[in-house]
Amino acid sequence: MLSNIAARDVETLIHPYTNLATFRDTGPLVLERGHGVWVYDTDGRPYLEGMAGLWCTALGYGNEELVEAAAEQMGRLPFAHLFSGRSHDPAIELAETLKELMPVPTSKIFFTSSGSEANDAQVKLLWYMNNALGRPRKKKIIARKKGYHGVTVATASLTGLPANHADWDLPIDGFLHAACPHHYRGAEPGESEEAFSQRLAAELEAQILAEDPDTVAAFFAEPVMGAGGAIVPPAGYFAAIQAVLDRYDVRLVADEVICGFGRLGTWFGSEALGMRPDTLSFAKALTSGYLPLGGISIDEPLYRAMLDESVKLGGFGHGTTYSGHPVACAVANRALHIYRRDRIVERAAERAPHFQAALARLADHPLVGEARGLGMIGGIEIVADKPSKRQFEPKAAVAARCVAFAQDEGLIVRFLAGDRIAVCPPLVIEPDEIDTLFERLARALDRTAAWIAQERLE
Ligand code: PMP
Repeated sequence: MLSNIAARDVETLIHPYTNLATFRDTGPLVLERGHGVWVYDTDGRPYLEGMAGLWCTALGYGNEELVEAAAEQMGRLPFAHLFSGRSHDPAIELAETLKELMPVPTSKIFFTSSGSEANDAQVKLLWYMNNALGRPRKKKIIARKKGYHGVTVATASLTGLPANHADWDLPIDGFLHAACPHHYRGAEPGESEEAFSQRLAAELEAQILAEDPDTVAAFFAEPVMGAGGAIVPPAGYFAAIQAVLDRYDVRLVADEVICGFGRLGTWFGSEALGMRPDTLSFAKALTSGYLPLGGISIDEPLYRAMLDESVKLGGFGHGTTYSGHPVACAVANRALHIYRRDRIVERAAERAPHFQAALARLADHPLVGEARGLGMIGGIEIVADKPSKRQFEPKAAVAARCVAFAQDEGLIVRFLAGDRIAVCPPLVIEPDEIDTLFERLARALDRTAAWIAQERLE
């Protein structure tokens, strides 16, 4: 029997990324408040937020300084836009700070309200740039299987997950997918990480040549894949890929929507993985998820091309009402101040070994085929048989069941396609809370194993 509030939800709301059929019976988990790494439902029950919301609440819940920054800006100037040369100080200050923090030479910052809009702007600007440069054929974009870049028509096309393509009439033309750099699933028996990286780079080169390099504009990659299952690339991967991209004048776009702002123990994931992107996309932890804000960095060559187009066309025809919303920018400014003052990125790097050691211990569990991660992000992959890596039937929804057990144990984690479970807590998590997180996840795995035995799943 659903509670009153749950029943009202089922009658009225469509939930993103939810099985709309089973949801009618299960109903929602309705959260009411949060503090630190804890969130509380409408019955007052606490949950350890092991996913930082959706990979974003890096500074945890109930941060009064962020609330104060929002309230102050709300009172002073709740809305102002950046269209037609108008501006406001929170956006200028934020762009200045971001330019300083960028791991690659950056000329300008363009703001959006989400990660999808940021990557969508990247795609459009690649097309725009190559028109400005007089190479109108150089428009194709290669992303990767299991990559996640958003849900707009263009960014769902970049995304390499079946759920974002099947029956959505996607991907649209001009969007291609290279292999997923997942050693556990993709490597040949006995193939080292380095050899696997070299092979994937050779495959990418063959793909670019088959398409014709004059038609390929860019390669999109998350430093560590998030929604694909917390997949850390194999040793030497980005160095090998970068060499191929350089050879054919294909730009690298780093999707830092999850990895940006400390997740891997560096300001940006590109730094942790030796990527040299031309531009990068960011969102989520920029405001610690307190308000929607994203954006992209723009390098000098792209900016020059945009200037030329403005001369030719009489202006830059892109932007949304909330691009660089002043309240979101004010919260981001305060969040970045806190990141620096409280050494949040350095502390994430210091805590990562403890987090990764606790994660790695789950690999001993009979259901866990692989436990993998980097910095303060991790994932496990549930298998039916460890030696062969065989998985359970997708319809058994084993990872979803495990996540439901975790919720019952007072832990929020996220299941992903392929019986994968992601863990991505707020960066402010304390060592004892890391222990609690993994104890609860281990209990959820034990309960899942008992359920599998009872159901006689194979
Ligand atoms: N890129 C990455 C790497 C993401 O993880 C996400 C969202 N999870 C997006 C882009 C899309 O961001 P949004 O949901 O804010 O549109």
